[in-house]
Parts: sequence; C-alpha cells; structure tokens
Amino acid sequence: MIVTRFAPSPNGPLHWGHAYSAIAAHDLARDARGKFLLRIEDIDGPRSRPEMADEFRRDLEWLGLEWDEVPPQSTRGAQYQLGAQRLGEMGLLYACTCTRAEIASAAKAVGPEGPVYPGTCRHRGVSPDGPAALRMDIAKALAITGPLTWHDALTGEQQADPLALGDPVLVRKDLPASYHLAATLDDAADGVTLVTRGRDLFAATHIHRLLQALLELPVPRWHHHPLLLDPEGRKLAKRRGSKALSDHRKAGQDGRDWAQKVRMGEWPCGNRLESA
Ligand code: GLU
Ligand code: ZN
Repeated sequence: MIVTRFAPSPNGPLHWGHAYSAIAAHDLARDARGKFLLRIEDIDGPRSRPEMADEFRRDLEWLGLEWDEVPPQSTRGAQYQLGAQRLGEMGLLYACTCTRAEIASAAKAVGPEGPVYPGTCRHRGVSPDGPAALRMDIAKALAITGPLTWHDALTGEQQADPLALGDPVLVRKDLPASYHLAATLDDAADGVTLVTRGRDLFAATHIHRLLQALLELPVPRWHHHPLLLDPEGRKLAKRRGSKALSDHRKAGQDGRDWAQKVRMGEWPCGNRLESA
C-alpha cells in the first residue's frame, strides 16, 4: 500500500507551491487506495506557531483534501535522541561550533544548499565547552554502508551522493534533531512508502538514504515534483509577496475549484511549473 505525506513547517502560511505538493501527494495516495498523511514539522519550536498549523488544516480542507494526521515533530524528541545516540555509538558524529560566517569563509565549494561545510571540526577530537551542533562524518558513514541507490518516480534510479553536501548537522545545538534526522526517522515511524516533496529537497535525499542504511530503516521511494515559480520565474515565497492559500480562502473563493484547476495544470496568480 502507498503511504505518502505532506509535511509543512508552521513558520509561515501555505502558498500555491504547498498546495501543489499536497494535492500531488493526496492524489497519488487516493489513486492507489493508499494513505495520505499530514505531519506538522514543528521541531523548530521558537519559530513554529501552533495557530499556523490550524490554518494549514483549514487550507487543506478548503482544497477538498482528506488526510490522516500523525503526531507533530515536537512530540518526537525522544525518538530523535535515540537515533542520534545510535549514530554517536557508531562513532559517526562530531561536535561543531563553527558559525555560518566561519563556514562561508572556509568553504571550498558551494553545493545545492549553500557553502559546503569544509570539515573544520571533524578532527578536533575535543568536546567543546559551550553548546555545539553534531555533524555526521559522511565519508566514514559511507565506508560502513558502501554505495547506495534510491528511486525517484520522475528521474529513476539514483546513486546516493551524500558527500557533495558536506558533513550535515544532524543534531542542532538548540534542538534534538535537524531536519534531516527528524524527517528520516518520522517517515520510517509513520510507515511512509512514498516521500512526496519538491525538487528543492532532492539533494537532501542522498543524506536521508544514508541515514536509512545506518539506522536499518525501511527504504521508501521518492517523488520529487517540480516547483511552482512566480511570474518572474522565482520560487514562491511569502516574503516575495506570493499569495497565501488562506488569503484566497478568507476571500471566499472556492478551494475545490482551484484544486481542480491545479490538477489540470492551470496555475493561480500567474504562477507556472518549472520545466523538467
Ligand atoms: N518541512 C519541510 C518544508 O516545509 C518539508 C520536508 C519534507 O517534505 O521532507 O519545507
Ligand atoms: Zn565546525
């Protein structure tokens, strides 16, 4: 059975890019008589706003979607700690106290997610006094797992290439997990068999696949869909004035009708889908 999900972070309103993602996931599940899950990714406590999650539920209802909701990330800290502990026992984590500015000036490469961490703290071998993030030594992890592959519905079989992103933070200095560790553990705990999300997270999947191998988690398939772009060709973002779904909803527009249009490839607000 297909179990897929929509996993928004409640730090800003949903826009049409989110609607497209949610509709895609919902329909993939519905067409296969599977399950469509909603997971609120509120691990980032201080930046998360609970009232925002309620707005999300109303937006999805307005679009005519049906879902099962799984527990939000804020309730899963203990699982994240167990996951991190296990990776730590495998000798794969190290403390890092570098600031963004330090990483940017020392980086030798820029990857899909910005400056690639140059490994500054990898061999320091001392635990810092103050708060530190924990990063995973990717080369060491790959030496344990060997080469890995994963499957994307649109682009086919992929060779996992987590080295290109540098050693990622798995435990943030202020939180029990980073996005990578939390989302990977959540998808496994929620029985997700098809991870549906935007192509902007394609590179992150290399890391997730590696974590699955290390933590002996089931391996789902992925469906990374193209992103919606605004009339100027930029990724949608509230801060650039992209309309929130709730604006349309509160203006009394028909969300089911909009959802139907999105399914037909008719994009609201002059947006368009990025080309393949
Ligand atoms: N919470 C992430 C976001 O809102 C999505 C994570 C995912 O789908 O894996 O961008
Ligand atoms: Zn560092």
